[in-house]
Amino acid sequence: MKIALFPGSFDPITKGHQDIIERATPLFDKIIVAIGTNSSKKHLYTLEERMQWIKETFSENSKVEITTYTGLTIDYCKKVNANYILRGLRNTVDYNYEANIAQMNRAMQANIETVFMLTSPNLSAINSNIVRDIIINNGDASQFVPKAIQQNFKK
Ligand code: ADP
Repeated sequence: MKIALFPGSFDPITKGHQDIIERATPLFDKIIVAIGTNSSKKHLYTLEERMQWIKETFSENSKVEITTYTGLTIDYCKKVNANYILRGLRNTVDYNYEANIAQMNRAMQANIETVFMLTSPNLSAINSNIVRDIIINNGDASQFVPKAIQQNFKK
């Protein structure tokens, strides 16, 4: 069974994340979207809100599961039997950051492969940080989030 873990903050989930998950669906038997809770990052939305939005977005996709985790991503992979870590690449900044993490993860855990997917070009500018900035400043960021949650996402 091919199980991939898609780790991230998803604060909030964007059309970019959705695109990666949808395109990876045929490649794996199961995709576990895992919201990491161990980082020092400050979040705009609660874990419950972030999980709920991912659930609504993938309610029709039986391969997608949503969980939260703490600790190292590779340790969580072992716990849930995921042999693959799925990550999206938008640009060279993502590449430089992600390549180091993937190499170090592989040095620690050789049987877990990180699989990268390139962002669809029309979605490569979408960034959760900027989406959060728009929301904090009372803008309408709904065009950047999945259709399924656009309604309840508006303030
Ligand atoms: P993190 O805070 O760990 O970067 P994110 O929630 O921002 O978590 O992102 C999780 C994953 O989704 C990462 O692999 C990131 O590269 C990818 N990602 C984020 N935005 C996009 C996008 N617009 N298109 C494709 N992948 C994206």
